[in-house]
Amino acid sequence: MGLLERIREGEVLLSDGAVGTYLQGKGLAIGDAPETWNLSHPDVVRQMAADYFAAGSDLMATNSFGGNSFRLGHQGLEEHLEEVNQTAAALARSAAPEGGLVMGSIGPTGEFLEPLGSVSPGEMYEAFSRQMEALVIGGADAFCIETMTALDEAALAVKAAATLGLPVLATMTFDIGPKGFATSMGVTVETAAEGLAEAGADVIGSNCGSGIEQMVEIARALGKASQLPLIIQSNAGLPELEDGVAVYKELPEHMASHCAELVEAGAGIIGGCCGTTPQHIEAMAEVIK
Ligand SMILES: [Zn+2]
Repeated sequence: MGLLERIREGEVLLSDGAVGTYLQGKGLAIGDAPETWNLSHPDVVRQMAADYFAAGSDLMATNSFGGNSFRLGHQGLEEHLEEVNQTAAALARSAAPEGGLVMGSIGPTGEFLEPLGSVSPGEMYEAFSRQMEALVIGGADAFCIETMTALDEAALAVKAAATLGLPVLATMTFDIGPKGFATSMGVTVETAAEGLAEAGADVIGSNCGSGIEQMVEIARALGKASQLPLIIQSNAGLPELEDGVAVYKELPEHMASHCAELVEAGAGIIGGCCGTTPQHIEAMAEVIK
């Protein structure tokens, strides 16, 4: 059964925890692009996927969050884009047990669309398509467009993904503000839900930015605004700076204790974002499975 069928049948799927903070824990320097490790440290990237699958993840994201031409270009890696993304997917695929799914991670380009920035919608769409095609060749089963704050950019990514025939998961990052939850670009939960669905997303949701309690509120608002299944990936709390390093302190059991509320709100996929570890996923698996 495919990903969407499993959710429709009522199964709650577990996705993975953090990728960036996992790799930093293995020695990736802060500020270095995690995607470079697909080529320089493939064994670590494969082990990360193996650790999450062993902890109970049904879905593992590829290490390709910043693998678009704009971001890789800043690292001098644009000519290796295909290799970086194909390898990202192939590494996760090679660690997947039977039934384990690989979701191609697509993060923001870091650019603004015209007239705010200098990138045209066509250029941005092309950038997403190029990355996504490489992820498909590497073995992705679905796309996870994540940590989006601009709806026009997120919608272009969803449209590009929707042409490739795989399930499209799309999440945005919300913060609490004077008018309720909105992204840093001012997109409310309701506007996001409508815009992502209209662009063709199969599953919508939220990741990053918040700890689990706030994420429960966001999930409830999304569930009210949309009939689509939700994907919710919370940070392990808000980052606290210790010696210049961001530390996330929500414990696995604490996050797991809120999973039932996420399911009630409409979540079909639950996982973690920054600061969550295989131990967090294991604790969630105990509650969900
Ligand atoms: Zn995050």
